[in-house]
Amino acid sequence: MEHVVCDLCGGGDLVEVYCDPGFEIPSALGIRQIDITNVICRTCGLIFINPRLPEAAVREFYAAQTRPREVPEGGGVSALPRGESVRRDQCERILEEWNSHAEGRILDIGSFEGYFLSLFKRRGWSCVGVEPAREAVLVAREHYDLEILEGMFEDFPQLAGVFDVVSVRHVLEHVRQPSHFLHLARKALKPEGLLFIEVPDASRPRAVELDDFFSFQHLYNFSPTTLKAMLSREGFEVKVPSQLLPYGAFRTLAWWRAGRPSQTIEPGNPTEYRRLHGIVREYAQERQSVLDRLKSKIAALVDETRGGDARVAVFGAGFHTRELFRRTNMLEAPIVALVDSDPAKHGSDLAGLTVQSPSSLAEARPTMVLVSSYAFQDEISGQLTSLEKEGVRVVRLYGKVQAYDTFTADPGVR
Ligand SMILES: [Zn+2]
Repeated sequence: MEHVVCDLCGGGDLVEVYCDPGFEIPSALGIRQIDITNVICRTCGLIFINPRLPEAAVREFYAAQTRPREVPEGGGVSALPRGESVRRDQCERILEEWNSHAEGRILDIGSFEGYFLSLFKRRGWSCVGVEPAREAVLVAREHYDLEILEGMFEDFPQLAGVFDVVSVRHVLEHVRQPSHFLHLARKALKPEGLLFIEVPDASRPRAVELDDFFSFQHLYNFSPTTLKAMLSREGFEVKVPSQLLPYGAFRTLAWWRAGRPSQTIEPGNPTEYRRLHGIVREYAQERQSVLDRLKSKIAALVDETRGGDARVAVFGAGFHTRELFRRTNMLEAPIVALVDSDPAKHGSDLAGLTVQSPSSLAEARPTMVLVSSYAFQDEISGQLTSLEKEGVRVVRLYGKVQAYDTFTADPGVR
């Protein structure tokens, strides 16, 4: 494990604020159990994982997670991707701030399957994407005819000084050194350029489901205040307050204007430290009650299946299910099948169960299917309507789902 100092103020006065002990990460060597510890900097309020896995281990994880969820079997994009309305809204917000009749040149870091960039291309913009997930790169090139550089943004120093807009959507929280990343983003911009950032909002963490807001993948957890401070330190001008989004994220737009006298930055912000510390401690308590609720719900389900001829299938073989097995007694149920829509998972092992295609449900003849996902709950349930009509009980763990890429209500996104 690797220890780091605060990437915003450089300080080392850190206090643990949130910990998930024994989190399980699949790796080439099998399951790796680590404590995910988030600390908060008492000087400036920045929240980050410390200590953390070394870079090689993280790269290995991402390399194994390259399948874009939007890409259906067969590789093509059949319809609009998930989160389409969010991406449209991101595009409109940028154009509004850009406020020019002339088409510009945009760099999207983490361009994924390319739908967001295609919105700009359609408007006559010149577009470049950077994306490490190979399958997403191929889809963006083939389906939207986009120029995509395969790899990490930090690997392309030739991108300096040529873009009007750089967009960083749900990426900054994953990078190992955000200050350096922002420095490179600034260098990629023309002498006058706009930076668009969207990240999860650490000042509004929501405890609603099994997957944790403080994900092991999020090395940094920003609030609008700490992000603004880091942007200012890198020479960006943040004129408009961050826009708080209904799915627990925020947007910040920042201008880079070369030659503008640099601001004196005061990195210390004990008020923000105290505020965020309180918020995260409160989140930890809320999360505990969410976990307790799920635990008793599963325990009741497992009880119902005892002694009879119940046959249970679990739909979803991702982190949600891994967590479900770790935190509840779900494995005591008579599980006859574990299925997932992602073909890349088929044949792999989770807790001794082999992941199969949803088509295997016909043969498994479950009496009950547990939908093990938050973000995909509605989508999975939709696939189970015919089974449900045949009398199979479909169990959903959550009420209304509001995840980033299932957020579809166009009006009111902003
Ligand atoms: Zn700090």
